Amino acid sequence: MSSFPGLERFPFTIRQLNPSTHLIRETDKYSEFPHIYAKTVFLTKGSTRPALIILSDTGCGTNLNPRPNFSTVIRPEPILSGTYKPRPDHNYNLANFLRATINPNGEIPYLVVTTHCHYDHILGLNYLPSTTSGMTTVLSSSHKKSFIVPRSNLAEHSLCEAMGVKTPKYDVGIWAHDLEPIVYAYPNPLHRSEILEIDTGITILHTPGHTPDSLTWYDRNERYIVVGDSLYERESPDTKEASEPPMPTIFDIESDLLDWWDSLKKVISFVEERNKEVEETADDRIEEAGSDEDEWVLVTATDSLSDSSGTTEPTPRTITIDLRAEKTPVRVGPEQVSKKRRVRLGAAHVTADVDAEDCLLAMQDFMRRVLRNEIPSCSLGQERGEEAYLWDEALGDGDGNGRFSVKAPWRIVEEGRKAIPKSEIWRAWVG
Ligand SMILES: [Zn+2]
Repeated sequence: MSSFPGLERFPFTIRQLNPSTHLIRETDKYSEFPHIYAKTVFLTKGSTRPALIILSDTGCGTNLNPRPNFSTVIRPEPILSGTYKPRPDHNYNLANFLRATINPNGEIPYLVVTTHCHYDHILGLNYLPSTTSGMTTVLSSSHKKSFIVPRSNLAEHSLCEAMGVKTPKYDVGIWAHDLEPIVYAYPNPLHRSEILEIDTGITILHTPGHTPDSLTWYDRNERYIVVGDSLYERESPDTKEASEPPMPTIFDIESDLLDWWDSLKKVISFVEERNKEVEETADDRIEEAGSDEDEWVLVTATDSLSDSSGTTEPTPRTITIDLRAEKTPVRVGPEQVSKKRRVRLGAAHVTADVDAEDCLLAMQDFMRRVLRNEIPSCSLGQERGEEAYLWDEALGDGDGNGRFSVKAPWRIVEEGRKAIPKSEIWRAWVG
């Protein structure tokens, strides 16, 4: 029997995003509300027990039972001392939440993909099995390794030092190269001399910008991409349901806007390539109907095909969709046309499951407008020795319901304005 009286006592929520991946959201004392993606991987098709759980980040390391007013009252961490005795409600951490949900008895090893080293992505490592136990392997970007090694650099760049929290101790087991597919190797529990390999289906992309070690990972089986802190929307159905405040995409003093811009273009191309596969294999095409630009008619390809044997083709189906009621054109065919779907996107905060291409292009357009000085901004004062600004349409005369906002040191944006080619900043939106 589980020693945990109920999941509702944990400061985490969990919901399934796709057949293999759950989204875990943490209610933490820093109001970061980190996203932890947990993907179960099976050694062979038909296995009943996962061989591996991939965790994308580990959150802030919350281990307290949240009180009903947890979101407004911040409870200090207990001070560890020789007489310290953990109270029962200090066990509500990520490791125990995973044991209570997708990793009963904690028998399945973890591959932790750190989207980058900031504290709200790595503090949960304090509670997972150590990297020396063989039960936890950490993967980080191999881009500018010196950002996180030696440990003194990790302490500084994770912001753990500045926040006065202990920097987690872990070894990086996999330094992932750009565009590298990730294979997880481990000793066969029955024959230790034998090494088993699991193709995780995950590909890593180096996407420096937010930090030099920022990475994006793509799950080719689920056609799902996770961009870490590179970008996210201000709000989402998850944040609204949890009454969380809107959140800007954040740049820090170590950020580089030109790198970020180039990484964004790279991810856009990557996603566009994969979305093209959907278009190429789909049996449908969309034709604009009549003169009403708000309406589309979907016509399946079978409509126009004739069979040389003379047998009748399936009855043509014409489906009219009123786009005023739909956010994006929905493709429908007689047999759902394609097993491939457009790539979905999640981030390390706020955004969990949106159309990737749409979100990325909209963010690119928002940043163009920031760089063109079209978004209202205000100073947030000094942070880590530099003046930080917020760019947010809510500051202007508009309705304040913009999809994105950005917080960054003024210098970072100024440097971006100089470094990013003018032709790219001023190019008209052609999304
Ligand atoms: Zn970050």
